[in-house]
Formats: sequence, structure tokens, C-alpha cells
Amino acid sequence: SKPNVAFIGLGNMGAPMAENLLKAGYKLSVFDLSAAATTRLQQAGASVAQSPKEAVSHAQVVISMLPAGQHVHSVYLGESGSDGLLVELNEGTLVIDSSTIAAADARKVAEAASKLGIDFLDAPVSGGTGGAVAGSLTFIVGGDSAAFAKAEPILAVMGKNIFHAGEHGAGQVAKICNNMLLGILMAGTAEAINLGVKNGLDPKVLSDIMLQSSGRNWTLEVYNPYPKVMENVPSSNGYQGGFMSKLMQKDLNLAMQTAQDTEVETPMGAKATELYASHTVENGDKDFSSIIGRHDVSLLS
Ligand code: NAD
Repeated sequence: SKPNVAFIGLGNMGAPMAENLLKAGYKLSVFDLSAAATTRLQQAGASVAQSPKEAVSHAQVVISMLPAGQHVHSVYLGESGSDGLLVELNEGTLVIDSSTIAAADARKVAEAASKLGIDFLDAPVSGGTGGAVAGSLTFIVGGDSAAFAKAEPILAVMGKNIFHAGEHGAGQVAKICNNMLLGILMAGTAEAINLGVKNGLDPKVLSDIMLQSSGRNWTLEVYNPYPKVMENVPSSNGYQGGFMSKLMQKDLNLAMQTAQDTEVETPMGAKATELYASHTVENGDKDFSSIIGRHDVSLLS
């Protein structure tokens, strides 16, 4: 029979991921600080807990989808480092954190979990909110093989491609490499479309051309940054929802920190980090494709 799952963090990604588990017949107990977030899940059939502790009280599996490392730290380790959720869990509980955080933070939680006989996996995702809704995410997992095997059937409900990247933290390293490249591709794609438009081209015509040419990439395929070129993407919806610019900036900062710590050169990543840092001053809550507004602020309104 299916394990009881506790799901913590029901934002742009967590909500549709949790809904897919419900649809697949998992019993879900959920918690989020935002009442709007929990109401959506209650309507989908989850039981809403009033605290993280209540959410995990009958759970064999805990999944979290939180903004950043500080939230993951405070949920699992607590303010003191030992008064968080981990100490509430039974031995043998499987904890899957799908937030994008520093590999060092993931290893710290994994180590504390391991001392308590709890299996912890870092399992960040790629695929965007579209992938979360469709259940076609890519999971990039770090941790023990036995825990990975236990997690696989659950991850398969929310994702299509499930990779075991290596030991604890390896999932996060792979994820920030991917997102550094995504930041570069989004900024570059926005720049290219803007250049064409400013030289008289229709953004849709130019996008179709590049999509069948050597500039082809994921942002052109499913996440065009120019308004109204594509349906059902944040750029055609006032840059609401999706992947907030401030979260992209967080990921670029993680990549830059990793590069600095290991003395690896990342000049393109550094440029994308600089662009997103200035963009988020005014547009942190807008989807990251709004970076095109650097070239033409009227596109953002
Ligand atoms: P979000 O801000 O939409 O959702 C985060 C949720 O966590 C919010 O509902 C918030 O209320 C909740 N939360 C914060 N602190 C909490 C706490 N202490 N206890 C309970 N709930 C708490 O962010 P998102 O877009 O869903 O992203 C979540 C993570 O996934 C981030 O690390 C992000 O980088 C990563 N990610 C996002 C996307 C995307 O396309 N949005 C894609 C891949 C990965």
C-alpha cells in the first residue's frame, strides 16, 4: 500500500506536485505558511495541518518544496539546529527535499537526518511550473542508493526523468549547473529577440526561425520571454506565476558561490548573475523571463 506523505511548501511548484500525488491516490497531509496555498490543496483533497509537526505525525515520507536554504534549515533543523522537524520523525522515514539550495546546506541536513536513522535525499527539479502540472519534471537526486530506490516510485508520479546524480549534495550541484545555463539562455534569448524586434522583425516570426535554427533552446521551445508569442507562459500573463526572478537570482548566486569556492571560472554565469541582480531590484516577484524588460520596460506592463 502507498505510504502516507507529508508535503511542506505549496507554492508555484509544490502545489501542482502535491496535486499529482493526490490524483495518484496518495494520502496527503500538507502545510504552508500561506492560507491561500493550503486552501487550494484542501479543495484538491489533502488534509491541512496547522503546523509542520502536525503534518508529519503520520507520515512515512516527507516532501518539501521551499524557497531557499534558510527555509529548509529552519523547517528541518529549527532555529537551534536541533528543534526542527527531523527530531519529530520516526526512524526509517524518507525525507525528500526538492527545493533548490546550496549543496553544503543539503549535506548538513542529510548528516543530521542520518544520525537519527532518517533517509534524506536532495531532489531538486527542473521543468518549470508546466512540468510540475503535467507531472513531467526532471528529478536530480543526491543521496544513498537504497533511499533513492525507495523514492523512485513516488518521484515517478511527479516526474518523468529521475536521475541519481551521486551522493548527498550531488543533486544540488547538478541543478545549479543547469540553472546557471538556463539564466544565461534566458538572458541571451531575450537579448536576441529584442535585437530582431528593434530591427523590424515580428517577435513570433523571429522566434519560429530561431526555433528551427542553431539558436534553438528550451526557452524558445516552451518559455518564450516575449509577450503573446506563446500561450500559457508567464510572458503572456503579465509575468505572473512561473519561476520568480528572485529565485533565479538565488540560483545564480549559488552557482557563483560554488565556482568561487572551487576556483572555477564562469564568466557567462557571472554576467547573467549581474543582469538578474539589477533586474530583481524592481522585478523580483515577476517570472524570470521578464528579464526582457531590461531592453524594453513597456513589455512588463
Ligand atoms: P514559491 O515561492 O512559489 O513557493 C514556496 C512556498 O513555500 C510558498 O508557498 C511559501 O509560503 C512556502 N514556505 C516558505 N517558508 C515556509 C515554511 N517555513 N514552512 C512552510 N511553507 C513555507 O516558490 P516555487 O517557485 O514553488 O519554488 C520552490 C523551490 O523550487 C525553489 O527553491 C525554487 O528555486 C525551485 N524551483 C522552482 C521552479 C519554478 O519554475 N518555479 C522550477 C524548479 C525549481
